[in-house]
Amino acid sequence: MKLTVIGYWGGYPAKDEASSMYIVEKDDFMLVLDVGSGGLAKFQKYNNVTDIDAVLLSHYHADHIADVGVLQHAYLVQSYLTGVKKTLPIYGHKEDEEQFDQLNHDYTEARQYEPNHTLKIGPFFIRFLKTNHSVPCYGMRITDGASTIVYTADSAYQEEWIKFSQHADFLLADCNFYANQDGTKAGHMTSKEVGIIAEQAAVKELILTHLPHYGDHKQLVEEARKEFTGKVTLASEGLTWGEQ
Ligand SMILES: [Zn+2]
Ligand SMILES: [Zn+2]
Repeated sequence: MKLTVIGYWGGYPAKDEASSMYIVEKDDFMLVLDVGSGGLAKFQKYNNVTDIDAVLLSHYHADHIADVGVLQHAYLVQSYLTGVKKTLPIYGHKEDEEQFDQLNHDYTEARQYEPNHTLKIGPFFIRFLKTNHSVPCYGMRITDGASTIVYTADSAYQEEWIKFSQHADFLLADCNFYANQDGTKAGHMTSKEVGIIAEQAAVKELILTHLPHYGDHKQLVEEARKEFTGKVTLASEGLTWGEQ
């Protein structure tokens, strides 16, 4: 399983960057997690738009779904150009029906995931955890049988993350705040909190993402390292982990 970061900024993309968007690949199957603002432009540096096999959305905040509309247009245009009609499945929760229905389009199909059930998409098995956020949002534990990625999506600290993340190879964690701040109200975690989760869940590597637009991100790494003895990495565009 290979993980690639396309966009990692919290709230909105920094200049020439993208907000939340990630690629998970295995055996030529490409699953995209969230489709943030600026994501589609960045994605095309590494892949063709029509290479995507499925999209999985954590929640319906703009910094995670802003480019869904243009992705739908891309599938429409590409089908005209190539004469091949490809319908892209987009998985989302149905706790906001209006937003869920927006995932239906001539070239994309809305598919509901049931958070209490394991979802199978291509070679991946996915379990969900409801996050602590201002709108319904789900974190994901994705495994291909050989390795496991946990993506917290957007969440304030909650103890459930420790059990949910047990022994994951990669914990891709919302780290929108520095250690001395309090992310509870905003629905995001601090570097210290994600470090604690990583340590107690004994994950192999912690990847800090959904990063803030101020301060020095290296400080986030130092703060997380005070809590977690494993490897800590800052997300950045194009970074990859694992093998396909
Ligand atoms: Zn967000
Ligand atoms: Zn959010």
